[in-house]
Amino acid sequence: MAIVERIEAATPAERRRLRLSNPATLAPLGEVEVASPDDVRAAVLRARKAQPAWAELPFSERGRVLERAARLLAARQDEFVAAIVAETGKPAMEALATEVITACDALQFYAKRAGRILADRTVPVHLLKNKKLRIAYRPLGVVGIITPWNFPFILSLNPTIQALVAGNAVVLKPSEVTPHSGRLVEELLSSAGLPEGVFSLVIGDGETGGALLESGVDKISFTGSVATGRRVAETCGRLLIPCTLELGGKDPMIVCADANLDRAARGAVYGAFTNSGQVCTSTERVYVVEEVADSFTRKVVEETARLRQGASGEFDVGAIIAQSQMGIIEEHVRDAVERGARVLAGGRRNPSLPGLFFEPTVLADVSHEMKVMRDETFGPVLPIMRVRDEDEALALANASRYGLNANVWTRNKRKGTQIAKAIESGCVVVNDCMITYGVTESPFGGVKESGIGRVNGEIGLRGYCRVQSILIDRFGGRTEPLWYPYSARKLQWLGRALRVLWGTSLGRLLS
Ligand code: NAD
Repeated sequence: MAIVERIEAATPAERRRLRLSNPATLAPLGEVEVASPDDVRAAVLRARKAQPAWAELPFSERGRVLERAARLLAARQDEFVAAIVAETGKPAMEALATEVITACDALQFYAKRAGRILADRTVPVHLLKNKKLRIAYRPLGVVGIITPWNFPFILSLNPTIQALVAGNAVVLKPSEVTPHSGRLVEELLSSAGLPEGVFSLVIGDGETGGALLESGVDKISFTGSVATGRRVAETCGRLLIPCTLELGGKDPMIVCADANLDRAARGAVYGAFTNSGQVCTSTERVYVVEEVADSFTRKVVEETARLRQGASGEFDVGAIIAQSQMGIIEEHVRDAVERGARVLAGGRRNPSLPGLFFEPTVLADVSHEMKVMRDETFGPVLPIMRVRDEDEALALANASRYGLNANVWTRNKRKGTQIAKAIESGCVVVNDCMITYGVTESPFGGVKESGIGRVNGEIGLRGYCRVQSILIDRFGGRTEPLWYPYSARKLQWLGRALRVLWGTSLGRLLS
């Protein structure tokens, strides 16, 4: 059974190929050719040529391409959902809600707002009143984008359109597990009228990704695992080009005694099992305070029992997308059980489905000795740990090398915010889970090993620009007080100015 099978080239003139199959039904999905390093360099050259004319266009015209793409996507939603489902085995509901709708929203959002967000800003200068400061956001040039397989459409489209609307050209390398979703991005943008060469798709695996890193691009936007992210950062460090790294997570959920337990239990089940747990912001560890632990756990198990897993018709939980992931999930559950965890639901591959399916699994009596509480599982596994109080929950939540997202459940929103601030993670949600990426205004990204930099919103969009500071002299004149010639009088005057500005309360008002 192969979801992605590597087929070597028979002659030096041929390209290597990948044979793909649907992870839920195992139906063949055809073969794709792997782009060679020469193909990648050619795509970057095309992008380099096309970028200046694209950057010259006003925001409104670049935005119009994005708006047309949103319209087209809304009209062709069924076709796009079907293609994403075929490649990933996720429920159509998830493909529509988290990939296509999020994409439409992002397209429209940046089309409408990029001009304002990236407009030149005039900033009052506090000290040198004879200067005017303008801050300009200029495009970087050509951005290389490398993406994973879990949300193959939105995670490829979203960084691409942000880079594009800022005036960059883009070369995208989607995951080798889900290249067809990369093709959807290409098809959508070209149907929306994006000029030739401004966007190129290069299909392939790590080798192609490695070639893109070395191809002379001006920035890398990488989404994927910590291990690959580290390699990307090392290469970008050597080449001295910026990168944003959106990496893995081990998101904690803290359930306080005053939580709405029905909502928290449903939120835990959704947070752990949506996309079969293959979400960087999946709920992967629950810390519930003792007083409500039994009641919360019972509700979670009841909700889990209602879930329907499948490949067709109406179902809630879909397939494991990448074959390699199945082994990791099985190993985490095996290790936990060996060390004393109790399986309250699931715990194994689904024997009644032919494709890659792991049953929604709830584990109790877990500890931080177990892999399932330390390493990213990226599968439908929900380990629940009871804790004495919120302080212990917080300490355990922070005892992780990851820090992407987290969620806190309490009826007291002020307390929820306080706990959120104490959690070491890039994003936190109070009384909901994992929605951060879907809130387009919200910067998204991790701390610790979960990544570097932020995507989305104003901060994310500005990340596709070089910030340029332009200082303009306001009044002219023959000379400046600090220019030559130096003299004892000037030195004395400067010392006096220093004493007034930073040594007196009048100075505090002036500086
Ligand atoms: P991965 O690191 O194996 O692959 C990601 C991409 O990198 C793929 O396109 C792959 O072909 C490419 N790649 C592999 N080796 C490379 C190399 N040496 N140089 C350049 N590119 C290379 O990750 P994956 O298994 O596809 O995705 C799952 C991981 O992604 C999980 O850890 C998940 O948490 C993470 N993820 C993070 C976010 C986020 O926003 N933080 C979102 C989704 C997924």
